[in-house]
Amino acid sequence: MMRGSGSKEVAARGREDLSGASWRRGAPPAPWNGHRCPPPPALASPPIEPSVKRPKPPRSTCLLVCMLNVLSKWISPSSRYLPCCQGTTSGHGVFARGIVSVVPGGSEKKTRRRCVKSRSCLLCVAVVFVGWLSGCSMKGDGHLHYGPIDESARRPAGLTGENLFMPMDLATPTDRRLGSGAPGPAYWQQRVDYDIDCRVDTENDAISASERITYHNNSPHRLDYMWVQLEQNLFNPESLGAKSHAPGGILHGRLTFEGGDHVESITAGGRDLEYHVYDTLARVELPEPIEPGGTFEFEIVWDFEIPPYYRRMGVEEVEDGKIFELAQWFPQVCNYDDVHGWNTLPYLGRGEFYTNYGTYNVNITVPATYTVTATGLLQNESEVLTPTVRDRLAEAMASDEPVWIVSPDEVGDASLRPRTDGEMTWRFRAENVRTFAFAASDAFQWDACKADVTDRDGTVRAVRVQSLYPKEAEAWSADHEDGGSTRVLKHSIEFYSDFVYPYPYPVMTNVNGPEDGMEYPMIIYCGGRENVRGMQGVTDHEVGHSWFPMIVNTDERRHIWMDEGFTTFINIYSRSALYGKPINFDRHKRQTLEVARSKNRQPIALPPDRMWNRWVGNLGYRKAAMGLVLLRELVLGHERFDTAFGEYVERWVFKSPQPDDFFR
Ligand SMILES: [Zn+2]
Repeated sequence: MMRGSGSKEVAARGREDLSGASWRRGAPPAPWNGHRCPPPPALASPPIEPSVKRPKPPRSTCLLVCMLNVLSKWISPSSRYLPCCQGTTSGHGVFARGIVSVVPGGSEKKTRRRCVKSRSCLLCVAVVFVGWLSGCSMKGDGHLHYGPIDESARRPAGLTGENLFMPMDLATPTDRRLGSGAPGPAYWQQRVDYDIDCRVDTENDAISASERITYHNNSPHRLDYMWVQLEQNLFNPESLGAKSHAPGGILHGRLTFEGGDHVESITAGGRDLEYHVYDTLARVELPEPIEPGGTFEFEIVWDFEIPPYYRRMGVEEVEDGKIFELAQWFPQVCNYDDVHGWNTLPYLGRGEFYTNYGTYNVNITVPATYTVTATGLLQNESEVLTPTVRDRLAEAMASDEPVWIVSPDEVGDASLRPRTDGEMTWRFRAENVRTFAFAASDAFQWDACKADVTDRDGTVRAVRVQSLYPKEAEAWSADHEDGGSTRVLKHSIEFYSDFVYPYPYPVMTNVNGPEDGMEYPMIIYCGGRENVRGMQGVTDHEVGHSWFPMIVNTDERRHIWMDEGFTTFINIYSRSALYGKPINFDRHKRQTLEVARSKNRQPIALPPDRMWNRWVGNLGYRKAAMGLVLLRELVLGHERFDTAFGEYVERWVFKSPQPDDFFR
């Protein structure tokens, strides 16, 4: 997921440490292969841009500047923002989120637009100003906080000046996880395959579906019961996630929407299975234990309403129609591993997901005027695409430049549809993936080209990279002067394939819709539309997640630094190559020091749902990335770091390392 966007910090997009005038790809840094790496750089002159000191005004000044910005925009929409926090205009975003916090039902994006364009802005200003005067404290995370803060809960435990650099207390090695940090001869992981049929009710914004789950017990243990994720239950006002966050926080204030999974049945061989639901989890009692090496098939029938706000998924109306983004939408078996047994941390909204690899066959039924894109490859192109569209896709697979599959003038063109009445079913198949996501819309433009991925044996393989977006997404267009989305996809897939590990999948899709920034296998959601740098930064970040955690499968609910931190680290080098500039981690350094200097600091090794909202980006993303950059640039040098980091990746491709495996 992208920190610095939408549900987290849209305004921060403009502060990405990206410099350079236009889109271009520079020479990539050396790959991980130690034999091809340059020698370590001289310690005295690392290739780092000098830090820029930014004056930070007092928070009261910041708030007043924000209010002046809002008022001046209301009076004159063409007026410019006054600089605010950190010398940027980002304080306006903080201020706008403050408004969302006190106006129940406010959509973050829409409220921000309204607050500069409509007269209701004055009411918002008055409400926030009165709240401010009456003693509420608006912290930098954009939420209004009430009451005293439990300082002791934020203190790092056991890290004093005396023992900070003592040897780490690592878990005892086993035959499953060796003392060297490699998976051992007894390493095992479960596998779960899914066959899903679903129908999207585009009139009522609802999903009805059924699935057959095939569970492969590769563990040496007999399993008497099973845990299943019901992540849609987050969207119920009674969920732990809704109750554990400040009003107006993670669920955008829409606490009156009673969402959640309606499970019609869970059966095996035609017999009902007993199950009990606990928030976003269900424990399913098995008719008989699953023996080691055994398999178990069962079926679930369920439906749910799509929330009227977005949290990793959602629905949005645009000028040409609707955009549906679905994610974490189907009952999925929890990961049973050798470290925690059943991983039953609930879905609270911030911690992402930790699942097993498997094969997915998913049939998605939508109105015939809709286009569907998803994790995996489309299996029935001849049924749902016209010969013209298929010819264009074939042309794209031979092109280094984006090819229009559906151009801006062709959105809604009946001649590009096999038919426009009734419904059509799109069939997708994906192998060796952690989950399955899809998007559907009748408003998509579509362009595509190929990315060249060189496999370990030297074979060059073409991967389709494609973007689907509404016409409002101006920065995404293949005709945009800065290159659009698909060229960034091509850069990122090729760069990370050289830098980390060859991208193993056949396609990567970027979708513009309600979600601000989130990654799934072979498909990412990015919400920005007009800000070129924002679109490029979020796209590159989410593509980077294809390696951490889609290929190296870490536990995102517990160890945010192993996916967000590692991805932010490789982003630094990708953007350096994209813009032809030296690496720049000034923002990472600044935010890391901000935590270190705070009396409210927290350790990096915390589950994301236990981090103070303000520190999630600083710790989980940038402190972890900065540590790795320092190791590579200043401590170990490229050759030694790349050899070690590359070894970690190679060992754990399509496996699940724990933190101790990385430290070793
Ligand atoms: Zn991320």
